Amino acid sequence: MTYQNYSLKQLQHIDAAHHLHPFTDHKELRAAGSRIITRAEGPFIYDLEGAEILDGMAGLWCVNVGYGRDELADAAYRQMKELPYYNSFFKCSTPTPVLLSKRLAEIAPKGIDQVFYGSSGSEANDTALRLVRHYWALEGKPEKNRIISRQNAYHGSTVAGTSLGGMEPMHQQLGGAVPNIVHVMMPYAYELALPGESDHDFGLRAARAVEDAILEAGADKVAAFIGEPVMGAGGVKIPPASYWPEVERICRKYDVLLMLDEVITGYGRTGEWFAATTYGISPDTITTAKALTSGYQPLSALLVGDRIARTLVEKSGEFNHGYTYSGHPVACAVALANLDIIEKEGLVERVKTDTGPYFAQALQEQIAGKGLVGEVRSVGLMGAIEIVKDKATKERFEGNGKAAVVVRDHAIANGMMLRATGDTMILSPPLIWTRATIDMACERIAKALDLAEADLR
Ligand code: PLP
Repeated sequence: MTYQNYSLKQLQHIDAAHHLHPFTDHKELRAAGSRIITRAEGPFIYDLEGAEILDGMAGLWCVNVGYGRDELADAAYRQMKELPYYNSFFKCSTPTPVLLSKRLAEIAPKGIDQVFYGSSGSEANDTALRLVRHYWALEGKPEKNRIISRQNAYHGSTVAGTSLGGMEPMHQQLGGAVPNIVHVMMPYAYELALPGESDHDFGLRAARAVEDAILEAGADKVAAFIGEPVMGAGGVKIPPASYWPEVERICRKYDVLLMLDEVITGYGRTGEWFAATTYGISPDTITTAKALTSGYQPLSALLVGDRIARTLVEKSGEFNHGYTYSGHPVACAVALANLDIIEKEGLVERVKTDTGPYFAQALQEQIAGKGLVGEVRSVGLMGAIEIVKDKATKERFEGNGKAAVVVRDHAIANGMMLRATGDTMILSPPLIWTRATIDMACERIAKALDLAEADLR
């Protein structure tokens, strides 16, 4: 029996009865009924009732080549027929992770030549945490194991991911974090810059919070700093240009490893293959997932720099870590086909030179002037809209994010999918968006903002 045999109400009822959703208030979900998406094509998703919605989130920051790509379905089908699964434990390998690793080493920033696979960003960050601590232990410094992260960071939802992340509500439900991870301020000028402080100076101050945390613990106790180049789930917090170079300088000064979490930014979103290049820094590890397969298969790749890899290879016996699906042949086949599309269609370059700048301009011209909007910001095809009650004072509406939900609901009803997190609306569209798609999105968002303002004032 297929889903077509069920009505929307029936599917919602079964969903409510048996399906626990991620990051969801189930009481609210059961009262409202889930929106059931049944198909998608290009930049659009379609729900069970046939509504066409422009997907401003690329699924969940991942469907970068858009929907309905036969090349990816064909790659999966061919690989499933030939070899659906074999592991890469015990000195075995299969061709697609071998070839994908070579490809990733070619596009990764200089000095990064090794890859460790998992199925999700969370798993990749677990791997990264284990790897950097293992690295220092192999270097004879097992006590150099503290990780510095940031408040409001998102690094996944496993125990390690939650502990690395800086989201208070997640910590509260954790019931026991991975020890020795500390969180410093985020580089979020809109709320945290002091009156009269320039972006440049604020960026340096936020970076020095990392130095303070190193000095407080002692450099010989700090393994690494981890950060998303642009904080994604925390609200597309774009750091001032001064931030990352200063963080890198501080990490190098105290011999602290630099771990970038590019689960969102990896594979083109900021207009470079990796945001490490956008911000001109050379990390020791890069966590990637999502757009590696454009979400068509679950796959993550932790890109590992030569310094760590050399020690792992030369000094280690066995690294006691891995997943059944590390280097999954089907997921890796899809990743290879996905990278082909990104390359062939020049999507990274297009974001850099055309759609990224146009997106920034469209947000400024069509959205920033709206009554509810305190700030718009973007880098590449990743943007945020701050919802405020008062543009001048930056005062927020009461209800901690409820106003943004009102905007989001109007947007969806108006054929535009975007996300609300706190008081911030987030956009992270597929990289196939054109100028015309950007205009369509801005028109729909502008209308949603007007309708929401009428409700909220
Ligand atoms: N890291 C970042 C920056 C993310 O945005 C996410 C997910 O959104 C993750 C890690 C976790 O990835 P996953 O949900 O695949 O475990």
